[in-house]
Amino acid sequence: MDTDQNFHKNILDNLNEGIFFVDTERRITYWSKGAEHLTGHEEKDVLGKKCADILFCVNALGHRECDGRCLLENPLFDGQIHEKEFFLHHKEGYRTPVLVRSMPYRNANGKVIGAIEILIDNSPKSDVMQQIEALQKMVLLDPLTSLGNRGYGEKMISSKLAELQRHISTFGMLFIDIDHFKQINDKHGHNVGDRVLKMIAKTIMNNVRPFDAVCRWGGEEFIALILNVSDDQLRQIAEKIRILIEQSSFWIDADIIRVTVSVGATLALPGDTPESLVKRADELLYQSKAGGRNRVAVL
Ligand code: GH3
Ligand code: MG
Ligand code: MG
Repeated sequence: MDTDQNFHKNILDNLNEGIFFVDTERRITYWSKGAEHLTGHEEKDVLGKKCADILFCVNALGHRECDGRCLLENPLFDGQIHEKEFFLHHKEGYRTPVLVRSMPYRNANGKVIGAIEILIDNSPKSDVMQQIEALQKMVLLDPLTSLGNRGYGEKMISSKLAELQRHISTFGMLFIDIDHFKQINDKHGHNVGDRVLKMIAKTIMNNVRPFDAVCRWGGEEFIALILNVSDDQLRQIAEKIRILIEQSSFWIDADIIRVTVSVGATLALPGDTPESLVKRADELLYQSKAGGRNRVAVL
């Protein structure tokens, strides 16, 4: 690599955004440090491979975006810039939202010889003050998943119910339980079970909004509080999370490890206590389990 190329590589590697180049065959020819950070894949493992075999992008309905002509390929045909939100597949298995900007890469004669892809992290980010607060609340942190623990969940439910009763804001609760999780532990061991818990926690956390609250309620159970939504919106968010979890996976040797979840979703009512609200969400979760699992029940 000559000095000029090194200069540009240095700049690209120092951007937070993930940058990569593909040739007309959609094979990766450059992969920045930002792309390594955002996807978990190192440059040496992706060069020469097709983007579709690395990122496995899906849309919010869980449909694969890599089949047929994907966004990334469009600039190769029309020479235009394209932009869209996707959920890429991190090496650790979780799904995370990215804004992908795709633009043509031309040679000196103006001929399109590839595309430049920019991946912008679209997951909710906390600012420095929030991070300091979070550190102070370490006692409320679940060490395995880095989500809030049950104590944090209980505090959030009480404070959001108080806000509801003072007409400040409304919220809905998602009670999420992994389906047949015991089988994962039994078949692949506790460590793999732990990796699944981390993966699910990330998929949930990265796909709610910054002001929503998520906690690990118990072993393989999570509660999310979704602020200021109608019952229709709550159902849509629950479905999106269910689908993105179904689309999360990682490999152990020749086995693909993936799970589904059942969800109970309900809006908090002014007359609710924390107990009555959790009980209703838990009963709806039970309905989802009884109805065949991998589904959402809403009331
Ligand atoms: P269902 O679809 O009915 O929810 O079935 P299930 O197997 O998910 O439910 P069950 O309650 O029978 O099993 C939950 C399992 O979760 C049993 C327990 O060993 C496992 N578990 C709980 N906490 C952890 C943990 O921190 N790590 C791991 N690896 N497993 C855990
Ligand atoms: Mg359970
Ligand atoms: Mg379970």
